[in-house]
Amino acid sequence: MLNKVSLGIRNLQKYRLVLGNELIDEIEKLADELKGIRICHVNSTSFGGGVAELLSSYIPLVRSVGLTMDWQVIHGDRRFFTITKSLHNALQGGDGSLIQREETDRLYKTQNQMNAREMDYNYDIFIINDPQPAALRHFSDDSNAKWIWRCHIDTSVPDQGAWAYLRPYVEEYDAAVFTMDQFVPQDLRVPTIATMAPAIDAFSAKNMTLPRTLCREMTEDLGIDRERPLILQVSRFDPWKDPFGVIRIFQLAREKVPGLQLALVGSLASDDPEGWSMYAAIHTEADKDRDVHVFTNMTGVGSMQVNAFQTACDVAIQKSIREGFGLVISEALWKGLPIVAGNAGGIPMQMTGNLSNYLVNTLEEGAEKVVYLLQNREIAAELGKEGKENVKRNFLMPRLIRDELSLVKRVLAG
Ligand code: UDP
Repeated sequence: MLNKVSLGIRNLQKYRLVLGNELIDEIEKLADELKGIRICHVNSTSFGGGVAELLSSYIPLVRSVGLTMDWQVIHGDRRFFTITKSLHNALQGGDGSLIQREETDRLYKTQNQMNAREMDYNYDIFIINDPQPAALRHFSDDSNAKWIWRCHIDTSVPDQGAWAYLRPYVEEYDAAVFTMDQFVPQDLRVPTIATMAPAIDAFSAKNMTLPRTLCREMTEDLGIDRERPLILQVSRFDPWKDPFGVIRIFQLAREKVPGLQLALVGSLASDDPEGWSMYAAIHTEADKDRDVHVFTNMTGVGSMQVNAFQTACDVAIQKSIREGFGLVISEALWKGLPIVAGNAGGIPMQMTGNLSNYLVNTLEEGAEKVVYLLQNREIAAELGKEGKENVKRNFLMPRLIRDELSLVKRVLAG
């Protein structure tokens, strides 16, 4: 059997205090209409990265309105996850040569077929996340359930070979979901195509309000000097997140802001073999400078510590080159933190209004904006307020729950 992630129930009603009643009432009505429907999400890792983060908050909240929602995780060995990471990279516009190989095709199919055999099919709706398990629908002999493919990555300019490889599998689904319209491939043919952005849980350990003094103490315990300014990037160790570019931005900014410190907080995901070599390379680079600190989930920097860093630091960076959405943007904005970010993928939809002035295309521009925000604290604080309001309006969990349950209703109605 596939592993089922064990999760509890989180009370959605708390959101009435933040968002008012209308949206929560709407969700309760949808849940009533869907009563008895069993929904199952499937992905390739239970920790590390945005999808695992999302599902671990999302599912417990959905359960609290009386729906059955579970989460199964596919198995895979290192070779499988190496080719699926390569597929992921190629769909984001990277090199697609590995996808063309016969061996890759064989491995992708065999592993999906094996996983399809081990799935629990006792559900009415399957929501399959990302390319790794996309062929499950092809290999399942389930004929009663409805199947939705949920793409979390930036497929705006995919390697054509990689997309041509994946497309026939996706076209067997009843619906496909993307984060933004720009990510929907023009040639995709499925009965329903929807777009919806991910969201964060304001009450999770990652995002709950913590006192800033406590957070500064927590980061001090991890080696940060609380008397000096701190900038931060939180992300998987991945080339698309441009960690070396972040170090360069830091070095340039420090020329204008002496004493500046950088924390790179990065997680390693079990379905991302590339992360380990990136981690080693970043460590080597960081070791050359005692004000560059590298932390990981493997050394005890978990959700609460990420929250502490985002609350305690002065400016966040997210220098992504491609980005499906970037939950870290909403997480930081929710804490009122100003951000300088790469003008890529799903980031601009979170950084609208005045925040968009801090979307950058070059390292020099990034450093200049970081320095400006460090030297103009009132403007930084205003931006933080604007960012938090934007997250409240658009990127908190209830909006996503409403969007997804509405889609489920549509798909069930055929
Ligand atoms: N994250 C974390 N610890 C880390 C690095 C990242 O908890 O050391 C979390 C981060 O807070 C966010 C998720 O991992 O919730 C990353 O999601 P995002 O959408 O930003 O990027 P992805 O990894 O999906 O590309």
